[in-house]
Amino acid sequence: MLRQTFFLASLLGALNLYLAEDITLQILSGILFLLTLGISLVWPEPLPPPPPPDLWSDAPEKKEREMKTCSNCGKAVDQKWSMCPYCSKRV
Ligand SMILES: [Zn+2]
Repeated sequence: MLRQTFFLASLLGALNLYLAEDITLQILSGILFLLTLGISLVWPEPLPPPPPPDLWSDAPEKKEREMKTCSNCGKAVDQKWSMCPYCSKRV
């Protein structure tokens, strides 16, 4: 947004340079034109572009825990657990 504003100002400066009859106004307009055009070209975007809306749609599946089934009672337990929370046997 800021870059577009500076670019617009540079266009106005160029227009002033074209329309001005006084040499002082022409110089000022030329400086304005070069300054604002340069800023509009090198100015970094203040904010990164917004993330795509489907960025988080896959997150719940990736956060799904690795599961295994208890060999004693057959219930699903976390992959990292060595003890079954249901029957207190090793899995
Ligand atoms: Zn069990």
